Amino acid sequence: MRFFNYIAGQWLPSTSDRWFPNVNPADTRDVIGEFPRSNAEDIARACAAARQAFTRWSRIPAPRRGEIIRRAGDIFTRRKEELAAIMTREMGKPLFETRGDIQEAIDTAYYSATETRRLFGYNTPSELPNKMNLSFRMPLGVCGIITAWNFPIAVPSWKIFPALAAGNTIVWKPSDDAPHSAVIFAEILQEAGVPPGVFNIVHGDAEAGAALVEHPDVRVVAFTGSTATGTQIAARCGALNKKVSLEMGGKNAVIIMEDADLALAIEGVLWGAFGTTGQRCTATSRLILHAPIHDTFLGMLIERARALTLGSGLDEQTQVGPVINERQCKKILDYIHIGQQEGARLALGGNRRTEGELAHGYFIEPTIFTDVQPTMRIWREEIFGPVLSVAKAESFEHAIALANDSDYGLSSAIYTRSVEYAFAAMRDIEAGITYINAPTIGAEAHMAFGGIKNTGNGHREGGWTVFDIFTEWKTVYVDFSGRLQRAQIDTE
Ligand code: NAD
Repeated sequence: MRFFNYIAGQWLPSTSDRWFPNVNPADTRDVIGEFPRSNAEDIARACAAARQAFTRWSRIPAPRRGEIIRRAGDIFTRRKEELAAIMTREMGKPLFETRGDIQEAIDTAYYSATETRRLFGYNTPSELPNKMNLSFRMPLGVCGIITAWNFPIAVPSWKIFPALAAGNTIVWKPSDDAPHSAVIFAEILQEAGVPPGVFNIVHGDAEAGAALVEHPDVRVVAFTGSTATGTQIAARCGALNKKVSLEMGGKNAVIIMEDADLALAIEGVLWGAFGTTGQRCTATSRLILHAPIHDTFLGMLIERARALTLGSGLDEQTQVGPVINERQCKKILDYIHIGQQEGARLALGGNRRTEGELAHGYFIEPTIFTDVQPTMRIWREEIFGPVLSVAKAESFEHAIALANDSDYGLSSAIYTRSVEYAFAAMRDIEAGITYINAPTIGAEAHMAFGGIKNTGNGHREGGWTVFDIFTEWKTVYVDFSGRLQRAQIDTE
């Protein structure tokens, strides 16, 4: 079956007439369909449609736009089960996780719809008499959205709904590893009443993404993906003088102190490290154990991780699904090899699993390295798979130093019953997000989301802060004195 780009409200093939297959990573015999491998010409058509639709869309009162977005949330709710199955089939994570992915988009739709009744500006006194000063938010125009595959609906929704709420139009280049979910996103917005041209999808790979970044009509690029790609895009946006928001990689640490509730911490580490097969930007990939509980906790963790059930995400019994594709499977296995060569101790896993039905997919068993040194690559580099590196900390200060010894700064967590440790960690951990007694994953739609260091470039999605990405400020001075008043000069 062939799927198409969505441009100006129509389903169109690429002018390139090139196609790429979308394959189930749990069973590569299962081909979902072919999608257009689009080029700069397709991007130009989509940008033209978005540009043309902008004036009308941006002048619709924001709360009316909010009603359309709220309807989209309702339709996502109605189609949740069907879409969860589609998403699991194309990118592998278990159904209970894909349902959560869609729920996050539903929450974001309702949150963004509500914000259309606020989108606050402000007014302040003027320094001159009979003059009023105010500032309000304006939409930017055409937004270029480029996303990764691991949250095919949730992550795009963090950008799409607020951008639409603020009055922008969109060209979205979804990941070529999760294009089918994007098609359903378009169907839902179409049914909700988003007018033709306001929201467009152009499928493809880096070629289409790069063309979107380059296109002169695109005023802001909102990107989620790897740090390598994001940095490249930011450099182009710098040269082209475009606004750019980056959500990139992570290497997230959890600290378990000696006074922690260890049973609770086990649940958090298992979910953080092996949920979504470790393929989350917020996945727990570094575990820092306080020396007094190091051996006990590790023993408990290995036992529980060994028992996790691998399989197709469409099977309700599955706890850990496949990794996304052959390239990523090889990369993870390479890192496991690197860890062994570097001298870390492989305490669990380390292998691709190929018995029975697993032979047809990309399955890697939950893997734990101990005795990991902060200089090792498995400690420093994002692996994006079910691989957890464990280090021992002699003290609280040592644990914080280990956590902060990273080029990334997205999520973090500490398990402790001590108020002193908890508050010091909130202050001292260098990350955009810190959880106390909870895993590194679990973002909520109405809270700012993003990271520091090589994870981001200062923007935050989620919550109020996302509107800073998708709006510009207009400042207005209204002089009703009826005479020329010169600021800074007529001071008497
Ligand atoms: P990726 O960087 O390979 O690709 C991301 C997107 O960019 C894809 O749509 C891809 O086609 C496109 N792209 C690739 N090269 C491009 C170029 N030169 N110009 C324009 N577009 C280009 O990332 P991925 O493998 O799809 O996703 C995994 C990465 O995403 C991980 O690093 C993960 O941490 C990160 N991620 C971050 C967040 C976050 O919010 N911080 C969330 C999810 C995933």
